[in-house]
Amino acid sequence: MNKNDRLYKTIIIKEIKEEVKGFKTFVFEEGHHIHYKAGQYLTLVQNSREGEEVRRSYSITSSPVLDEPLSIGVKRVENGFFSRQLIDNAKPGDELVTIGSGGFFVLPDDIQQYHQVFFFAAGSGITPVYSLLKTGLHLHPQLSFVLIYSNASAGKTVFLSPLQELQKLFPHRFHLELLFSDSANLFKARLHRDLILESVYQLAVRNRNSMLFVSPFPLILHCKSAI
Ligand SMILES: Cc1cc2nc3c(=O)[nH]c(=O)nc-3n(C[C@H](O)[C@H](O)[C@H](O)COP(=O)(O)OP(=O)(O)OC[C@H]3O[C@@H](n4cnc5c(N)ncnc54)[C@H](O)[C@@H]3O)c2cc1C
Repeated sequence: MNKNDRLYKTIIIKEIKEEVKGFKTFVFEEGHHIHYKAGQYLTLVQNSREGEEVRRSYSITSSPVLDEPLSIGVKRVENGFFSRQLIDNAKPGDELVTIGSGGFFVLPDDIQQYHQVFFFAAGSGITPVYSLLKTGLHLHPQLSFVLIYSNASAGKTVFLSPLQELQKLFPHRFHLELLFSDSANLFKARLHRDLILESVYQLAVRNRNSMLFVSPFPLILHCKSAI
């Protein structure tokens, strides 16, 4: 990696927040000129010990429409090369190298034609959804949002407090449904087809065509045909 190549940009860590054990948000200093859409990821680059370029993508958790600095969410992967370095060693003031943002997991251009957006997420898969949700709530007042979010327990739920804050801020437009694997109610212990279908039937504000389904899971695509 030649840092002088224009492909590479240097970003400086401003702040690191431990959201839950093994998951941290990295907030970057301003002045990087990285443009992104909600739902996109940032690709970070570093050299391995053997001198090979290693690239890893991390979803952007900040929203481009809010006055907030660029941030990503990183989950520590056991024996992982990149994530362990970030989680275990990185500190504010450190420089990271990126080739910028990318990805197609974004809100569609025809978003205006919908009335309601259903998000489905589990664990650290919340990262792009969090940015999409914040962006949608602030940018599209005609839309209401549902997030069905599955985790091992409340204590292991990334962004639990900020999501609950969003619920208070937008009580009529944002419905948050939390699923915990340690729940006594097995129907609501994890994301599964019947729960998805029941939630959509119960929470739908209009007909099927006015609903948009957004999820990193293929399961949701299978369920869509049954709705
Ligand atoms: C579009 C996109 C968005 C993403 N968004 C996020 C995000 O928001 N947050 C996030 O935390 N992650 C995200 N990821 C995942 C992230 O990019 C990394 O893949 C993740 O951090 C693991 O990278 P690592 O270098 O730490 O682990 P790696 O070094 O790649 O290792 C991963 C696993 O493979 C095992 N492994 C490595 N080499 C071998 C081998 N030779 N043989 C057998 N096993 C091996 C390791 O033990 C480890 O368990 C995203 C990925 C993509 C593609």
